[in-house]
This record gives sequence, structure tokens and C-alpha cells, in this order.
Amino acid sequence: MGRQVTEARIRSRFAAVRERVGEALERGGRGPEEARILVASKYYSPEQISALAEAGVELLGENRSDDLIRKQEIFGDAFEWHFIGHLQRRKAREVAPRVSLIHSVDSAKLIRELEKRTPEGGGDVLLQVNVSGEASKYGVGEDGVEALLEEAARTGGRVNARGFMTIAPMVERAEDVRYVFAKLREIRDRLERSWRPHFDLSELSMGMSDDYEVAVEEGATIVRIGRTIIQEDGS
Ligand SMILES: *Cc1c(COP(=O)(O)O)cnc(C)c1O
Repeated sequence: MGRQVTEARIRSRFAAVRERVGEALERGGRGPEEARILVASKYYSPEQISALAEAGVELLGENRSDDLIRKQEIFGDAFEWHFIGHLQRRKAREVAPRVSLIHSVDSAKLIRELEKRTPEGGGDVLLQVNVSGEASKYGVGEDGVEALLEEAARTGGRVNARGFMTIAPMVERAEDVRYVFAKLREIRDRLERSWRPHFDLSELSMGMSDDYEVAVEEGATIVRIGRTIIQEDGS
């Protein structure tokens, strides 16, 4: 595939995602700026990442610390960077100073590690919730969320909880995971009220290539989009 074909495809695919996010926001009665599009960069070569920047992508999410370091060496300030993959405690030191948000915090041990590894001023995190209860997914169950908020509160702002993230199960129809997104929003609404003195828990990171429109309808503030922007066929 030639370079120009790649660039043109990425540009039109990203524009289409942006449009669909805008329409889903409207259907949900929300304003046009209320959901950000993060591109999950794990599938992208450096050349394709350049094309993402050209297409207007501002926010990338990486899954692995070594890939994050490698890509930041090339692209540095061209993007805002988040970490979206499972974070091992021994990688916290490398990742924490490099990203503005970690989407995938799911244990008290990791919070304690981040407390030590986060630069002065603290770092923002989302708590990953396994809403569907699928055994293959990382994340805490709904009943484990408050304990993580308590652990984060104990760090006195060093680990600053900003909301929640979930990965929905793979299904054929996006409608079949609407309940997952609605459930995460309910959890957020309930905890946002009681935790307001400590944290602004307004962020909801949910929705991927196959289900992001439904996620936005249900209140996503960040969608994480990977394959659909480079895929050769499909929508
Ligand atoms: C890869 C990845 C995505 C994007 O997945 P697609 O289905 O390709 O859109 C989103 N979130 C996380 C955590 C990922 O690892």
C-alpha cells in the first residue's frame, strides 16, 4: 500500500469517526466537544502515526511501556499520550511520567506503586472496571471500586482519580453491550456524588472500533479507537 493511499485512507476514516461521534453526542443530548477520540496506537507503524497527526489526531493511547517510549522518541510533543494497557507494577516508574492519564488502574498495589513513581504534582488515573464479569478481562468488579478510591484518596492527590474505564465483551451487535456502558455510567454517577470532595470523577473511557457510537450515546467522554481507522475494508 502506497504512502499516499495510507494517508488518504487514514484521513477519511478519522473524519468519519469524528462525524459519527458528533452524531452520537447529539443523539445523547450532549455538546459537540463532550467526547474525545483517542487512537489506540498499538496497530500503527511510525509512518501511519505520522498520517494520524496529519489527519488531526491529537490523542494517542499505548498499551506497552516499551512501545510508548519508542514512539515518544519519534513523535514527542506531536500528541498527548495516555496509557491504556494493563500496567504491571514494575513498569509504573517508566510509564507514569510519560502520560497525562493512565486508563487501566485496577489494584491497590498499583496505586501504592504509582504514589511512589508519579512526578511531583501527582498523576491522573482512571479505575478500570470489569462490568461484564468476563474472566478474561482485567479490572475490578463493581464491589471493588470504592476500596480503590479510598486507596487513591489516601495518597493525598498524588494519584488523582478522574473516572472509570471499561472494555466491553466482543459481540456481533454493539447493542448487546449497551448495558455495559450504561452500567459504568451508573457507577460513575453514584460515586461522583459521594466522592466529590476528593475527586472529580467525570471521565468515562469506553467504546472501541465496533461499539463506540453506543458508548458515546451512553455517556463516554473518551472513546478508544484502533483498527477501524486503518482497516482495509468495512466501514
Ligand atoms: C487496542 C485497544 C483499543 C482499540 O481497539 P479496536 O477494537 O481496535 O478499536 C481500545 N482499548 C484498549 C485498551 C485497547 O488495547
